[in-house]
Amino acid sequence: MARIGFIGLGNMGGPMALNLVKAGHDVVAFDLVEAALAKLREAGAKTAASAREAVVDADFVVSMLPAGRHVEGVYLSQENNACLLDEIAADTVIIDCSTIAAETARKVAAAASERGRKMLDAPVSGGVGGAEAGTLTFMVGGDASVVDEARPILQAMGKNIFHAGASGAGQVAKMCNNMLLAVLMSGTAEAIALGVANGLDPAVLSDIMKQSSGGNWALNVYNPYPGVMEGVPASRGYTGGFQVDLMIKDLTLAMDGAAAAGQPTPMGALARSLYVLHKNNGAEGHEDAGSLDFSSIQKFYGK
Ligand code: NAD
Repeated sequence: MARIGFIGLGNMGGPMALNLVKAGHDVVAFDLVEAALAKLREAGAKTAASAREAVVDADFVVSMLPAGRHVEGVYLSQENNACLLDEIAADTVIIDCSTIAAETARKVAAAASERGRKMLDAPVSGGVGGAEAGTLTFMVGGDASVVDEARPILQAMGKNIFHAGASGAGQVAKMCNNMLLAVLMSGTAEAIALGVANGLDPAVLSDIMKQSSGGNWALNVYNPYPGVMEGVPASRGYTGGFQVDLMIKDLTLAMDGAAAAGQPTPMGALARSLYVLHKNNGAEGHEDAGSLDFSSIQKFYGK
């Protein structure tokens, strides 16, 4: 069993770290928020007082942080003339699962490589439900041999492990997937709102569309309409899932990727505008909808 330093125990990182504990690994976890640390301790994990303490003697370091600036901050910021990468042993495999720009992932991986450290970008798909169930999809960028070393650790947290290509390729795959997810979720919310406005029961309509050509992931496991599906954010006031702010971050990454490659992405651009309008409009008693789950885009369509 491996000794794993885990940094970032939020909606996703918390349950991912718990699955590593359940698989018998020796996890030492760190987050800035004490409540997140307490949850891990209750489940039998050790916690550390800093990221530096968490990575001591680690075979693997896993991070699950909100955005690129946090990843750069954690790995590259200097303290006593050394950054976290300097504190991690040379044979340790570093797996960053955060969704960040491919360019930032390559920059941090290059800094790791300069120090003789092995680093992968391994963003995930599957949401909090997938993180809890250990059924995430990992999209991994980096050297094939390092991906093979990391595979048993990733398999304790996920079901599908894809090697997308060289460093940064995992983030490119993730950017494409989440742009499509935003288009699907807003389209699904729009279709349900249309049905309801024309007198249909949203649950009946969802059942019909699920078995028809409009069927998609949002309808199958993440229905955006309140009361249609149990256990999803729409049925608990849009709390505890994937925040609107994080979806806007991902859509902005996709727009940056589109601009850099000169690739038109009109559907993605529209989805990003819808999410920004929705954030600014607010919903569910929130003046700013940024902290709500992204399926709350349903509220943008009124009624
Ligand atoms: P979150 O905000 O719930 O969790 C992030 C955690 O990182 C927080 O607990 C925060 O305290 C911690 N953190 C921030 N800076 C830190 C630091 N310097 N040191 C230690 N801990 C620090 O976010 P999340 O929903 O868990 O998402 C994490 C990443 O996963 C994001 O990049 C997101 O885009 C991606 N993602 C999320 C989902 C989802 O459904 N929530 C799905 C796929 C991918």
